[in-house]
Amino acid sequence: MEKKENNLMEKIVSLCKRRGFIFPGSEIYGGLAGTYDWGHFGVALKNNIKQSWWKKFVDNRRDMYGIDAAILMNSKVWEATGHVANFADSLDGKQFNTMLKTEVGAKKEEVAVSYLRPETAQGMFVNFKNTVDAFHPKLPFGMAQIGKVFRNEIAPRDFLFRQREFEQMEVEYFTKEEDWGKYFEYWKGEMLDWMEEVGIDMSKIHELEIPDKDRAHYSSRTIDFEFEYPFGQKELFGLAYRTDFDLKNHKLDYIDEEKGDKIIPHVIEPTFGVDRAALALLLSAYCEDEKGGEVRAYLKFKPSIAPVICAVSPLLKNKPELVEYANTKIFAPLKAEFGRVIWDDNGNIGKRYRRQDEIGTPFCIVVDFDTLTDDTVTVRDRDTGEQERIKIENLKNYIREKI
Ligand code: ATP
Repeated sequence: MEKKENNLMEKIVSLCKRRGFIFPGSEIYGGLAGTYDWGHFGVALKNNIKQSWWKKFVDNRRDMYGIDAAILMNSKVWEATGHVANFADSLDGKQFNTMLKTEVGAKKEEVAVSYLRPETAQGMFVNFKNTVDAFHPKLPFGMAQIGKVFRNEIAPRDFLFRQREFEQMEVEYFTKEEDWGKYFEYWKGEMLDWMEEVGIDMSKIHELEIPDKDRAHYSSRTIDFEFEYPFGQKELFGLAYRTDFDLKNHKLDYIDEEKGDKIIPHVIEPTFGVDRAALALLLSAYCEDEKGGEVRAYLKFKPSIAPVICAVSPLLKNKPELVEYANTKIFAPLKAEFGRVIWDDNGNIGKRYRRQDEIGTPFCIVVDFDTLTDDTVTVRDRDTGEQERIKIENLKNYIREKI
């Protein structure tokens, strides 16, 4: 069992490299542990994950304010929050602070120590007052941010799971103290909904209540959503009740405009790692079956998340009339409409299907000689391998209905 599961990680890592999703960072110089570079299809996957998250948690709501704060912050931020003292991991009995330290400023006498942020959360807390002053939100309301974070992990490992540079999608949801329990439950539900919506295998998700002694220094209650990775059941996302810890430390408060009361709101924090989301999606989507006596591998991504929605192919690439038709009548209008459309005329049709299966493209559209006379194309379904003929005038609607 273990062998088979380890095998699965190897297959995913190799597919990601071969098909242009994810490459080891700085590879031609021997790499840099804990870093990865995202290729064309990986960027598309990551963008779809982030867009779906932003749509659900920001665009579709009335109580959420987006922010894109600087990665470099005044080191006083990290002193105030206890990160300088507490953001540590231990190895052989020694404690190591895992914030990535850097220097800001060129002239010696002006150099200041700074840290590359280890969480996006503080970018929101330090802009709490700016947001309240600019938008006058009523409690409860939230702030949301997607961005890079850095942690000097002692032992980066397991592909995207533990890196030194990665991305987070976080919400800080501000409520009155007495309401924290209600919103903790509410956000738990929202997180589960989103996981299901993007296509994470929910049978592999487990909730873990983190005991007092293991919680981060700022949290009074934390639930981890764990995922069954091939290397073990480990954290995918987290939900924390940060109390009024951060606002209090930054000496920030909130004035209820109607009552005039000054209070320190309490915070519920749903946090999502983009990279772990991508890994869980790759693992959830990876399938193998047998087609024509051969094993084929495919990524069963939902069309909304797949890097490519459809590939367009002329049956033969040396027939100018097919190529011209496929290009002008099919590829160009689909590309203009959906963006995530690619042209694939490399190798024979069987090879193209295998390639698109591995990329996770839900539909392959083939233009053949019948197309020239009856204005229909073949649309092949990734999961079943079944093909149907669709009128060109109905193609856009056919695809629109699936995404
Ligand atoms: P772990 O216990 O695995 O170190 P954590 O509890 O420190 O994780 P958080 O501080 O809650 O993680 O970070 C929020 C999210 O960021 C996590 O739920 C995870 O998705 C992601 N994350 C954390 N550390 C890493 C890492 N080194 N590489 C990739 N993603 C990470």
